Amino acid sequence: MCKKPGLVVFDLDYTLWPFWVDTHVDPPFQKNSDGLIRDRNGQTVKLYPEVPAVLEQLHKEGIPIAAASRTGEIRGATQLLDLFGLKHYFSHTEIYPGSKVTHFQRLCQQTRTPLSQMLFFDDESRNIYDVSKLGTWRCVTCVLVPNGMNLALLSHGLEAFARS
Ligand SMILES: [Mg+2]
Repeated sequence: MCKKPGLVVFDLDYTLWPFWVDTHVDPPFQKNSDGLIRDRNGQTVKLYPEVPAVLEQLHKEGIPIAAASRTGEIRGATQLLDLFGLKHYFSHTEIYPGSKVTHFQRLCQQTRTPLSQMLFFDDESRNIYDVSKLGTWRCVTCVLVPNGMNLALLSHGLEAFARS
């Protein structure tokens, strides 16, 4: 059996959903009787389509999941995780502005998972760059997300981690 990560960490904006929660939509959000989630202006908000399947696969494999987001819209992002029915997948959420170095340092402390056991998905290369410099010679396995999270990218990430 191949080596599995001890923690998989996801960015939120443009990784799990196709917008910046502090810019492109207007919180608070609500779930309507049609099952759709809308912002204050009635604009529908959606996840990237394969995100629930990605989280479910990790959950089934018993791999803990965390979120690390630099958004200033902490309440809106947290509310979306809840409304999308994803909250129970995340053992930890680190959502606040600043460098993702801080997010990962806190994840390390709180989960007691070494950086070398973490797999990280993010759409922004500057975050990947910051996080990949953490640690000494055994670091976080980082995967750039070009068009939203999907199952193929999850497989790619898990394979990259297994080789690390
Ligand atoms: Mg992002």
